[in-house]
Amino acid sequence: MTEQQQTPADPRAADLAARVRDLMPGVRSDLETLTRIPSVSLPSFDQHHVEDSARTVAELLQAEGLQVEVVREGGQPAVIGHLPAPEGAPTVLLYAHHDVQPPGESGWDTDPFEPTQVGERLYGRGVADDKAGVMAHVAALRAHGGRPPVGVTVFVEGEEEVGSESLPHILERHGDRLACDAIVLADSHNWKIGVPALTTTLRGMVRVVVEVRALDHGVHSGLYGGAVPDGLTALARLLATLHDEAGDVAVPGLMSSEAADLDYSEDDLRADSGLADGVSPIGTGSFLSRMWTKPSVTVIGIDAPSVDRAANLLTPVGRAKLSMRIHPAEAPGTAYQALKEHLERNAPWGCQVSVTLDDEGSGFAADAQGPVYDAARAAFRDAWGGVEPVDIGVGGSIPFVAAFAERFPQAAILVTGVEDPDTRAHAANESLHLGEFERVCLAEALLLERLGALGKDGSHD
Ligand SMILES: [Zn+2]
Repeated sequence: MTEQQQTPADPRAADLAARVRDLMPGVRSDLETLTRIPSVSLPSFDQHHVEDSARTVAELLQAEGLQVEVVREGGQPAVIGHLPAPEGAPTVLLYAHHDVQPPGESGWDTDPFEPTQVGERLYGRGVADDKAGVMAHVAALRAHGGRPPVGVTVFVEGEEEVGSESLPHILERHGDRLACDAIVLADSHNWKIGVPALTTTLRGMVRVVVEVRALDHGVHSGLYGGAVPDGLTALARLLATLHDEAGDVAVPGLMSSEAADLDYSEDDLRADSGLADGVSPIGTGSFLSRMWTKPSVTVIGIDAPSVDRAANLLTPVGRAKLSMRIHPAEAPGTAYQALKEHLERNAPWGCQVSVTLDDEGSGFAADAQGPVYDAARAAFRDAWGGVEPVDIGVGGSIPFVAAFAERFPQAAILVTGVEDPDTRAHAANESLHLGEFERVCLAEALLLERLGALGKDGSHD
């Protein structure tokens, strides 16, 4: 694609594109400054770096003319910046997070906290997830000379990577100042290099512990084996009932639907997941449906005697932890009940089964229609040189999306992203594609422009 083709036809859009291009060296330099702060929010890491990154984000927003406050409700500091709306214009909330995952023990080819360019990519922990999200918001403000045609509230959280635990309290306490007509959550990914995406669904999550008891206490496996069941074998049989022969989840009553029809082949799945040779994928339907809009159940832990220490004993109790991912629109409470009933009903040999809820989180299914989505799709198309954005799902859950959806039910929610399939967020060698990053910044500048043109009422349709 030539530079020529990428310049949007509309003169105002072309003007913004030229401005963003001029701004990118400064945006990148600020991104590097942020990346050099090792703001790992995991409590075992030095938390003063998270304070530093909050302060640095606050200064960046202040420099754009926003009224800024650093808030905290028992957790890590979040930054709120506000620019009032011009008369009659809507207000847009721009979300990102300034904390990062730990760098991990090994595997980095460069220093994780010294951003390094290799080819078209910039490497470093947090350089994409989600400090590029922070800088995309700053870049959009800069592109409008600090005077966008909409009100802007920037909200940059400091504990997304450890579960956003105090976010509900922040939303409760400071929600009035975050009130908005549209929300842009810049923490997901695009479909591939050159193809932008809006994340319109996220699966929800239910995690349980199941315990299967066969005996009051362990007994000799030689003396009683054959007549008396053991808890571990019973657990194994129970876990085997969770899937049918094809590998679909066999728990009745769970919601499922078809995902968007995008190209994703078995070869893509094998390459992306590292499936071992000869192993088949499980389930039925398109691969994307299996990962985005159908339920899944995974055994993530088992308490059992270790192989090295195993005695000739009928083990009285087996325990397992199960992670279930659920349809974006399914209520976690309903899904939990369905799983619990299935496990209780399938107890082998009358063994005692008890199920306890360990954690749950709501999914997200955007109403991906209406003027805000139209504006976003047009902005993306212009920023990506005419390439139509696609709607994608994410199989995992992002707790903060549900929190915003619940607190601001009137606002249209756009989940956008700076990542691409090679970003490796959370892993070693995390990186940002610099060409795509410029398009992300431009898309957001164009989006603010289009939302301003929409006026306040348009965003409520
Ligand atoms: Zn993130």
